[in-house]
Amino acid sequence: MNVLDGKGLATQIKAEIALKVEAMVAQGKRRPHLAAVLVGDDPASHVYVRNKVRSCEKSGFESTLVRLPNTVTQQELMQKIHELNADDTIDGFIVQLPLPKHIDDEAVTLAIDYRKDVDGFHPMNFGRMALGLSCYVPATPLGIITMLERYGVETSGKSCAVIGRSNIVGTPISILLSRKALVGNATVTLVHSRSKGAAEILKQSDIIIAAIGIPHYLTADLVKEGAVVIDVGINRVEDPAAKRGYRLVGDVDYGAVAPKCSYITPVPGGVGPMTVTALLMNTLKAATHEIYK
Ligand code: NAD
Repeated sequence: MNVLDGKGLATQIKAEIALKVEAMVAQGKRRPHLAAVLVGDDPASHVYVRNKVRSCEKSGFESTLVRLPNTVTQQELMQKIHELNADDTIDGFIVQLPLPKHIDDEAVTLAIDYRKDVDGFHPMNFGRMALGLSCYVPATPLGIITMLERYGVETSGKSCAVIGRSNIVGTPISILLSRKALVGNATVTLVHSRSKGAAEILKQSDIIIAAIGIPHYLTADLVKEGAVVIDVGINRVEDPAAKRGYRLVGDVDYGAVAPKCSYITPVPGGVGPMTVTALLMNTLKAATHEIYK
């Protein structure tokens, strides 16, 4: 069994990005600049955004954190997005989800200039991704694809089950893995909450990507010998022994599943750090106008 060390790989890629940034600066160009909009006080969102800002610093990016209160109106948030769209010193920005209930997420996603949409959620980028055109691929799927590529995990001709069909993980990764690409050419089944016979599908799959948000959903009896298992889930479970009173677990029952796998990602230290790194990869592309001139 091989552990896909997302944390280690993320550190390596961030160092590679930092070298490219220093080369840009040496040529007199400005540093890539990522802005993050954080609305309200959701504790998990705070942690994610803090990690993104820290990673920017490690790669020599400039970063700006825009904090808005829970009570922000749709109009005020839209105004901030328009300002970020118009700011020539900012290459890309994200609006951290989830947003408060009174905010229309879809309107927010559509308001972001697709050329600065480094989360890849705008229909322009999502549509281009589905067509196999260059675009900002959503960060978590890009992180997974990058990890599979760097570790040389074969996907071509393999059967792959993706569990969960969210717009940010399950749906895009299912599209990417089925496309004709270096990491792709898999026969993908998207398993969701209404699927019938999910257990049989999972038991026959060479690759399983779990993205549902249910702690330890994927048990050893659902995984065949030699499978590749990618655990996207980040779930807080109560743990009185832990300093914060909780610990993070994935959607995979790691202890029981890992011995059966050829490759598996841990939680934490797997997909999470790769997601943040993928965001930096997209921001670097934005700064160098690699996708949109
Ligand atoms: P989500 O929470 O929006 O939706 C869950 C999906 O799971 C839905 O599509 C639903 O149909 C499906 N589902 C629910 N119960 C199911 C069942 N019993 N069988 C099959 N499918 C079922 O999804 P999300 O935003 O992709 O998040 C999923 C998990 O991944 C969460 O734990 C989240 O915290 C985590 N996440 C991690 C990262 C990362 O960087 N590692 C990034 C995004 C999300």
